[in-house]
Amino acid sequence: MSADLDRARDILIIGAGIFGAAIAWSLARQGQGHRVTILERGHPAGGATSRAAALVTQIRDDPVLVALARETFLAMQALEAEGEHLGRHHAGALHVVSRQGAEALSQRAEAAAALGIRSERPSRAEVQARAPWLRRQAGDCAVFFPEDCYVDPYLLASAYLKAGVRGGVRLMRDADVRHVLHADARVTGVELSDGRRLEARVVINAAGAWANLLSVELGLPLPMAPVRSHYWITEQAPIFPRNGAIVFMPEIRAYARPEVGGLLFGIRERSPAVVDARKLPADLSGFVFDPADADGWESLAEGADPLEGFFPAVRSLRIAHYVTGPSNYTDDAQLILGASRRIDGLFVASGCNGSGITFSGGVGRLLAELVLHVSPFISSARFDPARHAPFDPYAPAFLARCAATRAGKASG
Ligand SMILES: Cc1cc2nc3c(=O)[nH]c(=O)nc-3n(C[C@H](O)[C@H](O)[C@H](O)COP(=O)(O)OP(=O)(O)OC[C@H]3O[C@@H](n4cnc5c(N)ncnc54)[C@H](O)[C@@H]3O)c2cc1C
Repeated sequence: MSADLDRARDILIIGAGIFGAAIAWSLARQGQGHRVTILERGHPAGGATSRAAALVTQIRDDPVLVALARETFLAMQALEAEGEHLGRHHAGALHVVSRQGAEALSQRAEAAAALGIRSERPSRAEVQARAPWLRRQAGDCAVFFPEDCYVDPYLLASAYLKAGVRGGVRLMRDADVRHVLHADARVTGVELSDGRRLEARVVINAAGAWANLLSVELGLPLPMAPVRSHYWITEQAPIFPRNGAIVFMPEIRAYARPEVGGLLFGIRERSPAVVDARKLPADLSGFVFDPADADGWESLAEGADPLEGFFPAVRSLRIAHYVTGPSNYTDDAQLILGASRRIDGLFVASGCNGSGITFSGGVGRLLAELVLHVSPFISSARFDPARHAPFDPYAPAFLARCAATRAGKASG
């Protein structure tokens, strides 16, 4: 069976998560929206995207990643100017450390300044005003990055989509891609699970944690695995002002931000849970990474003592919510963005390493530029999907390396 797809629509994007949505919007901004169809089998933004804590922060050790994040700030401005509501909180981010960590924090702020990222040295009183739940002494070694923010990730992804649709993009729901089709080393389209075939000259695999299921059979294994990301939200309490700041506590691998009158906080465990992507269901509701630790209590127990050093009330508050989902971590901590070298017209956008909301604007712009053969705003060589020698992305040792990337990730 062949689908009634308009032949002028020769660009297919698989997945309407934040990456697929941002790419579609960027193509529409280049006047190419009429060529684009996004194929989504479930709810747009219903995968990892809607589960994100959605911190959007600029500070990174690598200038290329800073450039990707900056594009998201520009994208958010442009979408808000079009009247889109992103649930954005201009909260700023406090980085707080112990006295032993003060030197490293100062160096990080200096390196950030060299990349044009503004920071301030807040007084202890200012730290307390922005995060009254922090232990008082925590204010002695703190740096504040005023431009950082958090959003509602579902609204941001929807805004990219809506603006894309206004620019001519078509969203096709209930479109479950089974195979990417190719002939003579060129992509020719996709086949859906209901047997329909859609023709295309360009296919962009933005299928999130499921991207390898389509990619491996093409001989393009992606160097990533779905690793558990998670956070907890406390009950409401007066120590959590709604306009409070994001707080990073890099020494204990924890972060926090206000959420509906409570505190949303995450801790990166030393051995994060990881799954073989073939075992991940299409619908994540009810999915648990580790049946022996379904609510993440083990990792909360691991992090509770160090967290108490910064957040004295942590043990006395009730946990109201636990949120978990897959983030695609790569074994080398680089994203996976670019064209296949073997199949012309095939592109991949994945390997978010837990920061896909932050990088979405840059990922959208870069993929649009690569697809349209416009000189890209950053070099994408390091993100090459085929940067590894042949390997098995489902091998337990490989999964463990991807989990180790999350364990060692720098905060921010
Ligand atoms: C708990 C948690 C906290 C996080 N916190 C942050 C944060 O604070 N800041 C930040 O920047 N990032 C954060 N992230 C990471 C962020 O959520 C991800 O990087 C981002 O959502 C990845 O987007 P995506 O589009 O690649 O994947 P997804 O959002 O998963 O989208 C992929 C889409 O593809 C669809 N799909 C898959 N296969 C097919 C198919 N065969 N056919 C059709 N459709 C298909 C899926 O249904 C899905 O909608 C967090 C993630 C988690 C889990």
